[in-house]
Amino acid sequence: MTHFDVIVIGGGHAGTEAALAAARAGMRALLLTQNIETIGQMSCNPAIGGVGKGHLVREIDALGGCMAQAADRAGIQFRKLNASRGPAVRATRAQADRALYRAAVRQIVENQPNLRIFQAAATEITLRNAQVNGVRAAPDLHFRAPAVVLTAGTFLAGVIHIGKESREGGRAGDPHAGPLAQQLREINPVSARLKTGTPPRLDGRTIDFSKTETQPGDHPRPIFSFIGNASDHPRQVPCHITETTPQAHDIVRAALKQSAMFSGKISGVGPRYCPAIEDKVHRFPDRPRHRIFLEPEGLECNEYYPNGASTSLPFAVQTEMIRAIPGLENAHITRPGYAIEYDFFDPRALSPALETRAVGGLFFAGQVNGTTGYEEAAAQGLVAGLNAARMVQNAPPWAPSRDESYIGVMLDDLATRGVSEPYRMFTSRAEHRLSLREDNADLRLTPRGREMGIVPDARWAHFCQRRERLEKEEAKLHEMRMGECSAFQFLKRPSAAYADLGAAATLRDAADIAEMEARVKYAGYIRRQNKADARLRDEESRAIPPDFDFALSGLSAEMQAVLEKSRPVNLRQARRILTPAALSVLAAHLRSHSHPPRSHPPSSRVRS
Ligand code: FAD
Repeated sequence: MTHFDVIVIGGGHAGTEAALAAARAGMRALLLTQNIETIGQMSCNPAIGGVGKGHLVREIDALGGCMAQAADRAGIQFRKLNASRGPAVRATRAQADRALYRAAVRQIVENQPNLRIFQAAATEITLRNAQVNGVRAAPDLHFRAPAVVLTAGTFLAGVIHIGKESREGGRAGDPHAGPLAQQLREINPVSARLKTGTPPRLDGRTIDFSKTETQPGDHPRPIFSFIGNASDHPRQVPCHITETTPQAHDIVRAALKQSAMFSGKISGVGPRYCPAIEDKVHRFPDRPRHRIFLEPEGLECNEYYPNGASTSLPFAVQTEMIRAIPGLENAHITRPGYAIEYDFFDPRALSPALETRAVGGLFFAGQVNGTTGYEEAAAQGLVAGLNAARMVQNAPPWAPSRDESYIGVMLDDLATRGVSEPYRMFTSRAEHRLSLREDNADLRLTPRGREMGIVPDARWAHFCQRRERLEKEEAKLHEMRMGECSAFQFLKRPSAAYADLGAAATLRDAADIAEMEARVKYAGYIRRQNKADARLRDEESRAIPPDFDFALSGLSAEMQAVLEKSRPVNLRQARRILTPAALSVLAAHLRSHSHPPRSHPPSSRVRS
């Protein structure tokens, strides 16, 4: 079979969700990937979720995607991050067994009706009158489809660097996609280079865990998928924590010039929030220590991932540096760390549905759009696969809004602000974060997904039961008296918990309880937030003086740099380039008129 409705190039996190979404939407879909064995492969950190990212995973799940279910089947340590903070920023994270994760994704992909898999490297996207009509793949194959989703990750003209050595590659062990990158640069010339890196892997048998701190998973154990169950989880194991030492930093400092990142060999910009160890040592010379999380790569292997020790130093230096860390004095490195540089395309050249403006029917998703992270890639994949299907069905594209989902926040950020460094999700990027919680992702998105045909019957039935349970419970809380006030008002008190309702607390599921508590406690805040949003919209024309000093307390270095670079003339322009939280800070400072004009040139003040 060579004719399909939607072809997806790439079997990573974006590609699998794209192919599954297109197939769930009823399209004949083809997943074309270089290597079937690497479907669902985690190129770097063996973990899913985290703050902001966990929110994306729950939204993908709410729309019928596979990431949360795979994380439940592969998770070997589950934690709720920010558990002591407000429900809006609480986020699930699962340490994943790399092999189990791959197997879970592959099992879901292989059993998806309407979806075919084929192993081949795509070499060319074929066009007719600026419209996609298929994909050529080695050797001499031509698959036809009116819609193509490109999700080639770090593989486009990928170059791997270790110390002074560099070679072509999509990631360690995989060839890069040279011919395709060449063609894409011609079709969509707005490309640039980004870089990212990964730490060396260690043999766990050579780690002295007695010198490290043990980090167990949480109890009760979080569950990722709305339709998941704790019985999906494999055996649980702890992670461990150690720290770098001044001695390790001296080793890194002495070898800085040999690092691919500092020798001038790499031109691409790296992820700000996941920097290499040489970057951290260089940028924060006063910090004597940085935390290193020792994360198991799986239940059936001995490898450990030292999270925080990403590096492109020469291998000999990597070994010396690792062995200067407590617990790792005798560590054996099983794979060296490396940096990779790759092509990405300016996402401002995409429609909000992730279709390229240059070529009809060609959609881009994942790392190729300048993002970093499995979750960001998967979320875009789902949207691109769905919209490719909707294009074929002559249905209007779906571009989720900022107030309905983190997915909407990300797509809007990409389409309006573009990226100058790898984009990752944070809760601070969402102005409506009080309403965009992990626990209500299904309530926000599952009905929409059902309407668009990508939420299967079983999930829908499960969702309807939950929605009804929560609605009934909320009505009950309004009616029930707790002394002077209703149970709803009682639960609003900061110290009150759902369990304090005693025998009247009938919800059993942890996610239901979390959702009910958040709904009650946030009701007033959300009303106030909506008012503040309205005020900000009214203030959009407020001018920003040309000599305004953006070194404001409460503004991150990243946001200060963005403002210095673009120097918006009013809040309307600033809105396009700032996170919502940063916009509020700027607006408050402008309102207060208390800022002296700039007294020194921007370059001397901006930190990166
Ligand atoms: P990928 O997961 O890269 O998948 C791309 C897929 O496309 C693969 O299946 C590949 O085989 C296939 N493919 C490529 N070319 C072709 C072709 N021509 N034909 C057919 N198939 C093709 N993220 C972080 O958040 N933090 C980090 O610190 C971090 N470090 C990283 C370090 C390294 C060394 C690498 C390689 C990646 C790192 N990442 C990191 C990024 C993370 O791996 C990606 O964000 C994520 O995998 C992107 O998903 P994707 O689906 O877009 O691409």
